[in-house]
Amino acid sequence: MKLWPRRPEPAPTRPRANPTRIAVLEHDLLGIKPEPGTAAALAIGLRRLGTCFEHQPVETTTLGDPQPTGLCTRCGAAMLLDEHGHWRVAEA
Ligand SMILES: [Zn+2]
Repeated sequence: MKLWPRRPEPAPTRPRANPTRIAVLEHDLLGIKPEPGTAAALAIGLRRLGTCFEHQPVETTTLGDPQPTGLCTRCGAAMLLDEHGHWRVAEA
């Protein structure tokens, strides 16, 4: 049995973070736009198109908002409540 030199043990493999998920979170939390043509750009673009069959808005209105605002709990799209009481996707 050879005691020296000892071989360094291989580093434990850690689960890798999903780069697309990171890019989407950077967009949502920090406002960083993903590079065009990437999966993250596609995911955010599809979100804006409305990938929901039917949006499920929750109201997120704060005192400073001029009109009631909300977020879709399914796709995360920003939504506005119009004067007729219908939610629509807010344009960026
Ligand atoms: Zn939605």
